[in-house]
Amino acid sequence: MKKGVVYPGSFDPVTLGHLDLIKRALTIFDRVIVAVADNSEKKPAFNRKERIRILKEVTEGMPGVEVDYFSGLLVDYLRKKKVNVILRGLRAVSDFDYEFQMILTNRRLAPEVETVFLMPQEDYFFLSSSMVKELAALGANLSAFVPARVEKELKAKFCRKK
Ligand code: ADP
Repeated sequence: MKKGVVYPGSFDPVTLGHLDLIKRALTIFDRVIVAVADNSEKKPAFNRKERIRILKEVTEGMPGVEVDYFSGLLVDYLRKKKVNVILRGLRAVSDFDYEFQMILTNRRLAPEVETVFLMPQEDYFFLSSSMVKELAALGANLSAFVPARVEKELKAKFCRKK
């Protein structure tokens, strides 16, 4: 039987850390559904459509990866997709508190759902979308943090008028 996992997140924008996690997940699961959270209230730099388009571009040619979005409860989305595993990334200890709270909440809402955590390659341990956006605004070289396509998108969005 094919086993799927839902990888939810903001992906604002997708980084090499996210991609590292997706590649690791593909060694365990047949189907990795990358689900963009519709968190417009968080005022993302890239709107939902942009985040989906960029994710599709950078995961093109990765068999088993699907890009989708969800709004509302994540567990409802999992039920709709008939998947019972959530994937999250664990970086520094700082991720732990929030993730622990999320697991326990989701478990109350949907006891059949399990969350698995994967750790990225250590180069990406301190990499986050928010750091990448800050660096982009300062005009830094981003090639160590995001795919070239994403760097272009970031430059277009954050390019400082000199
Ligand atoms: P969210 O707002 O849900 O945290 P993110 O896009 O920031 O959305 O992250 C989505 C998931 O990807 C989270 O589980 C996060 O821990 C993980 N993640 C983000 N950056 C990295 C990274 N550099 N390495 C591994 N996992 C990461």
